[in-house]
Amino acid sequence: MTTKVRHLIGGEWIGEPERERYNPARPDEVTVRAPAGDESTVSDALAAAEDARGAWAATPAPTRGAILLDAAEILRSRHEETATELVCEEGKTLAEARGEVRRAIDVLRYFGSHGWQSTGAVFPSGTPDTNVFTRPEPLGVVGLITPWNFPIAIPAWKLAPALISGNTVVLKPAELTPASATNLAAALVEAGLPAGVLNLVHGKGSVLGAALAERDSVCAVSFTGSTEVGLRLHQVVSARRARVQLEMGGKNAYLVLDDADPAAAARVVAAGAFGLTGQACTATSRVYCTPGVRAAFTEALVRETERFRPGDGLEADTTMGPVVSPVQLAADLSAIERARAQGASVATGGQHEGSFLAPTVLTGVAHEHDVARHEVFGPVVAVVPVAGYEEGLALVNDSSYGLTAGLCTNDLALAHHFAAHAEAGVVKVNRPTTGLDLNVPFGGVKDSSSNTFREQGPTAVDFYTWTKTVYMGHDH
Ligand code: NAD
Repeated sequence: MTTKVRHLIGGEWIGEPERERYNPARPDEVTVRAPAGDESTVSDALAAAEDARGAWAATPAPTRGAILLDAAEILRSRHEETATELVCEEGKTLAEARGEVRRAIDVLRYFGSHGWQSTGAVFPSGTPDTNVFTRPEPLGVVGLITPWNFPIAIPAWKLAPALISGNTVVLKPAELTPASATNLAAALVEAGLPAGVLNLVHGKGSVLGAALAERDSVCAVSFTGSTEVGLRLHQVVSARRARVQLEMGGKNAYLVLDDADPAAAARVVAAGAFGLTGQACTATSRVYCTPGVRAAFTEALVRETERFRPGDGLEADTTMGPVVSPVQLAADLSAIERARAQGASVATGGQHEGSFLAPTVLTGVAHEHDVARHEVFGPVVAVVPVAGYEEGLALVNDSSYGLTAGLCTNDLALAHHFAAHAEAGVVKVNRPTTGLDLNVPFGGVKDSSSNTFREQGPTAVDFYTWTKTVYMGHDH
């Protein structure tokens, strides 16, 4: 079955769905057709967002929140079909897709209920008969640009705080995954979101995303995607002094110490490396291992890795979905080949059948090798020997990226030392690098993030608001 999606502009679903997206598990099956927008599509979407801006900002926050809460219920009533469509366009397993749709629902609920919460603050004034308070104000029209790997959760965790704060939005999802973002938008429209408050445009990032970055009417751009694209966007958006939020790539490290249980450490590393086919920004991709645990850990990691069963995400016994696209598969295979050429051994994996890449453990990797330095964005993990904790921590931090980092140990003092000194936006001790609750701040440092505003959690709305300070004198 092929899903046809359209742009959403000013409350109308428009555009001929002509561009084809293939099912990553069944490359001869067209799973989605979407329109290919151009700069004029962005202009129309921005005009609609501009028109809707005043009325939406003036709508009481609890009323805005009620629409998010209703949208959550609508999405919940379509949980299974939305998850199934997600599998067909992005490729993760049905269990993973169900979890992702559940996340989108919960994010709508979380920010929907935010509509009733107190905002701003009251301050004492040094002047008699004067009240001082702050008002968080919406920014205006915001542009959201999202990647393919969490095609409904990431749009949800940007949209929900943007909308509850009173902004209007133009959302540009990844070309590979237009249907999941459409399902989210459709739930919001059906819940009563006024026309023009959310506009959805499909097409090439280099055309539509670049236009959103350049246009003066876009007050802020929130982007999640590759570091290469994000850093270019940063220059364009900040040059016109608009607000920008970037969450980008990672090269997430784990440090396994001698005192760790090798089997438990292998479970934690394998879950972080191969869950979601390793196509998570937070996926574990390099593991530094001290001498006393290295052999037992590597053996246990290979055992854990070989438990994964790659296949079509809709099949019941599949535990790892396909690689998202032929381009990504070629990049993964070339990273493995290059690692081999630089002296690594493939302890397990390395081969593929069609789009199904076997989860891959590389050993004999040195910290200087490309596979320990550059993001692969696939189910590939490199094991790198280190002498002890100090060297391990130094190498964890010797990276241009800083999204997540993990430590397996039972030593409380080292766990706290690592939490304080690991250069990463998220630190996990004895837990996989992937997976964060929706109520906690999320983001990276270094080239993983603009490191300005965090996403998710209570502070996510900060990016979408500015603070006005009001003095209210009341002489009588
Ligand atoms: P990508 O950078 O290719 O694309 C991301 C989005 O940007 C897409 O919507 C794309 O159409 C758009 N885009 C592409 N070129 C553009 C341009 N010139 N101007 C404006 N927009 C443009 O990334 P991807 O392949 O979709 O996603 C994978 C990457 O995303 C990985 O590097 C991964 O680590 C990262 N990611 C990061 C996080 C995080 O929270 N840090 C989460 C998920 C994914």
